[in-house]
Amino acid sequence: MNTFQLRIGTPDGLLFEGEVERVVCRAITGDLAILANHTNYLTAIGEGEAHIVLADGTKRSAACIGGMISMMNGTCHLLPTTWEWKEDIDLQRAQAAKERAEKLLAQGGMDEASYKTAEAKFRRSMVRLGVKNS
Ligand code: ATP
Repeated sequence: MNTFQLRIGTPDGLLFEGEVERVVCRAITGDLAILANHTNYLTAIGEGEAHIVLADGTKRSAACIGGMISMMNGTCHLLPTTWEWKEDIDLQRAQAAKERAEKLLAQGGMDEASYKTAEAKFRRSMVRLGVKNS
C-alpha cells in the first residue's frame, strides 16, 4: 500500500510525524479518509474518533476534536485542538465529565453560554468514551 507523510500537531506540540497508509477523522462535513495521492485539500475538523494506519498496518485510534486537516502536495497536516491517543484517555475522568454535564443539562436554568459549555463537555466526554471503549 502507498504511504504518505503525516504530521499531527496540537497546541501542546508535535504529537506524531511519520509515514502512514491512511488517516481517518471526522470533519465538519462528515467522516473523511485521506490516502496517498489524495488531491490537495483543506477542511475543518469536527469531533469524533480518528485513526491512523501506519506503514506496517498498525492502527492507532484517538479522540480528535476541532482544528483543521490539510493535504498539500502529498503531505498531510492534522492540526486538531485536542488529540488524545486511545491509550492516554482517562476513562474515569471522561465518565465523570459526562455525568457532570448530564446533571447540569437535566437540571436546566442555565444561561445560553453555560448551556452550550455543558453540551460541548457532554459531546467531548462521549467522544472520549467511544474511543476508549472501541
Ligand atoms: P474535563 O471536565 O474532564 O476537564 P473537558 O472536556 O472540559 O473535560 P478539555 O477542556 O477538552 O476537557 O481538555 C482539557 C485538557 O485535558 C486537554 O489537554 C485534554 O486533552 C485533557 N483531557 C480532558 N479529558 C481527558 C480524558 N478523559 N483523558 C485524557 N485527557 C483528557
